[in-house]
Amino acid sequence: MKTIFSLSTLLACISTVFCLRNDPSILVIGAGPAGIAAATRLLERGFKNVTVLEAESRIGGRILSVKFGDAFVDLGAQWCHGEEDNVVYDLVKDFNILRHSTLSKKFYHSSGKVIDEGFSEEIFNIMDEVYTADGNRHVPDYLTVGDYCKQNFNETLHQKYGHDREKLGLALSTMDYFQHKVLGFEGSFSWYEPAAKNDYRDCGGDLQLNWNGLGYKTILEVLMRKYPNKIRQLPIDTKIILNNEVRKIRWNENLLKNAVTVSCSDGTEYTVDHVIFTPSIGVLKERAYTMFEPRLSDIKHQVIGNIGFGSVMKVALHFPKRWWGDENGFNFFWSSEDKWSVLRDLPEDPNWIGTSWVTYLYAIETTEKNPKVLIAWFTGNFVPVIEQLSDRVLINGIYYVLKKFLSQEYEINKPDRINRSQWYSNPHFRGVYSFQTVKCKRGNGVTSETILATPLTNVENRPIVQFAGEATHP
Ligand SMILES: Cc1cc2nc3c(=O)[nH]c(=O)nc-3n(C[C@H](O)[C@H](O)[C@H](O)COP(=O)(O)OP(=O)(O)OC[C@H]3O[C@@H](n4cnc5c(N)ncnc54)[C@H](O)[C@@H]3O)c2cc1C
Repeated sequence: MKTIFSLSTLLACISTVFCLRNDPSILVIGAGPAGIAAATRLLERGFKNVTVLEAESRIGGRILSVKFGDAFVDLGAQWCHGEEDNVVYDLVKDFNILRHSTLSKKFYHSSGKVIDEGFSEEIFNIMDEVYTADGNRHVPDYLTVGDYCKQNFNETLHQKYGHDREKLGLALSTMDYFQHKVLGFEGSFSWYEPAAKNDYRDCGGDLQLNWNGLGYKTILEVLMRKYPNKIRQLPIDTKIILNNEVRKIRWNENLLKNAVTVSCSDGTEYTVDHVIFTPSIGVLKERAYTMFEPRLSDIKHQVIGNIGFGSVMKVALHFPKRWWGDENGFNFFWSSEDKWSVLRDLPEDPNWIGTSWVTYLYAIETTEKNPKVLIAWFTGNFVPVIEQLSDRVLINGIYYVLKKFLSQEYEINKPDRINRSQWYSNPHFRGVYSFQTVKCKRGNGVTSETILATPLTNVENRPIVQFAGEATHP
């Protein structure tokens, strides 16, 4: 899963690129973590002529912490992934916010039959050995994560359970779950899209630190110096203009001042010396051709096409009464017969070539400081359709799954409220986090990300439009 590492690169380069002389005008496009980091760093360095344009009605971008139940739940970024070489960790480590998360390693079967806890844990440990988000693998360049995981998972299961047909059969039927879990990390629609070997490196230390009910949004408050208290807060609120989508960026390499004119959805135009562009690679995939004038170079368009981007969906569920105990969550895997039976039970609901949408729900997690809330995770190519379902259909479908898998152990009640993500449908994101495909340039040389991050410069080779944000860092 991509993290917010790109912030460190961004913060490091800002002070060197801009020159305080004449207080240049700087427009930051996007008020996600990259945009907020850029703007706050500029303000800290004494630049005053800074404006942030944000298309949504809120700041935060793919950080979306919403008050739901007793605490904040994260429908976007959720964990601080690591304690070493992680700028997010460094920014908050002194505030005693982050907590270790324990994710459930317990499987439940669609037949309702109880899966032995020891066996569940063994399978989980094999999955964790076979797949890590870190792509430092000695495999051919053309191999995808799906090829790699499928082969290695299969081999390991045969080695371990080859002597026991029943266990082997059960273990092999978790493959579908494994695929969904991997998609949750990669953010792709299929596990045959991401390259098995990639430049993403895990940070050291705990990779799953949670925000103890305060939400990932705390990082934005820290950047803006509103947390832990507002006494030293930066004057950023007045610099951010919400609900204003950038439509066109006209840049002129021959101008040494006022080189970029940006037109917005509300009809306003900004003519500035510098632009920092932070929207997602999903936005670039959809709009790069029409947004920039003159158009971007062919090589930039090529990497925008090659860097992968898909989606996952999270649904926060609030229950009138807590029905579970002290578990951390539930992981579901289906038999093929049970998958078919869903089509009979929910005949009106959408399905993908005979696979009902509800079978894309693979895990449900508890969330910190929120005793009546669970988070449901959907991954896979059907997410764009699931995002369009009404709250009523979502609640009924998820309730159906909970009953099917868990009713032998728990007295489940129906969620009375939900809150859900729509990352793919939203034109200001079009997905969740980027990944390197087999077409990406990788390694120590010029990577796809460095090509994407290369600024548009003027005739003096000074940057006038800079590209920052998540996809500019592997
Ligand atoms: C479901 C999910 C789970 C995640 N989990 C984690 C996690 O656990 N840990 C982690 O570290 N990271 C996680 N991430 C990734 C993390 O959220 C992103 O890496 C991070 O938000 C990227 O920040 P950014 O500023 O580059 O882009 P964004 O957050 O996308 O911000 C870009 C901003 O630009 C705005 N924008 C877009 N188009 C325009 C336009 N035309 N005009 C003006 N504004 C525009 C957008 O509205 C947005 O606010 C997750 C993301 C998602 C979606």
